[in-house]
Amino acid sequence: MHLAGADAASGTVHLVGAGPGDPGLITLRGLHLIETATLLAFDRLVASELVGRARPDTVLVDVGKRPGTSHRQADIDHRLVEAAQQGHAVVRIKGGDPFVFGRGGEEAAACVAAGVPFEVVPGITSAIAAPAAANIPVTHRGYTPAFAVVTGHEDPTKAASQLDWEALARFPGTLVILMGVTTLVTTTLELITHGRDSSTPAAIIEWATTPRQRVVESTLGALASDAERAGVKSPATVVVGDVVGMRSVLSNQPALVGAI
Ligand code: SAH
Repeated sequence: MHLAGADAASGTVHLVGAGPGDPGLITLRGLHLIETATLLAFDRLVASELVGRARPDTVLVDVGKRPGTSHRQADIDHRLVEAAQQGHAVVRIKGGDPFVFGRGGEEAAACVAAGVPFEVVPGITSAIAAPAAANIPVTHRGYTPAFAVVTGHEDPTKAASQLDWEALARFPGTLVILMGVTTLVTTTLELITHGRDSSTPAAIIEWATTPRQRVVESTLGALASDAERAGVKSPATVVVGDVVGMRSVLSNQPALVGAI
């Protein structure tokens, strides 16, 4: 068998993790599926080099949720299912890992509901890769035996927060926050209010693993204002914990706020 497995199959939806940004960080299987898809659905977090690997006759569908051109998730689910039912070998590429805040579970459930076969191809999640790209290991012997990945952006239609900030503040390990740029003031404050030391090392990594990567290293108490001053925008990953201190150990340079 081919190292990367079978070709993309007609009538199937393949949910493929593209990795955190650098196109070289996709899996062999993911790339092979892109190269054999008849319909490729992608969004803004997926490197254009990967979309460019599709065959010339592959139908390209941009399902990105941008302001003004917003495609609702239900529309995306429907579109994927319908394309598979029409006989397409559908490949849906998603940033990072499809099942980490990627709504891949919803797309898979829509396939099951419609009787359409699906395949998930895991990807390297930015939750681990973004800190790594800044020389921050999410676990490190002597610092922490655990890490937790949480969303900073909850469904605004939900009345109460699903996140237990008290428990997160007490969590004995590294915290990684995705989708956390716009809510950074609130989340850092919640953690401090519930007992995390404001001097805990913290960092935010913007456009990790791409040529646009920037890192702001700070403390929990100062991260929101430092990130704001540096003009950090989404996509960016926040990491809170003593492991952030490893950055200066692993980088051959002193840690500077706003250093790239
Ligand atoms: N499924 C994705 C996450 C989707 S949610 C994964 O596993 O990586 C989108 C969030 O991921 C962004 O708001 C940001 O927090 C993070 N993210 C995605 N790409 C990133 C990148 N290149 N650099 C830093 N963070 C990134």
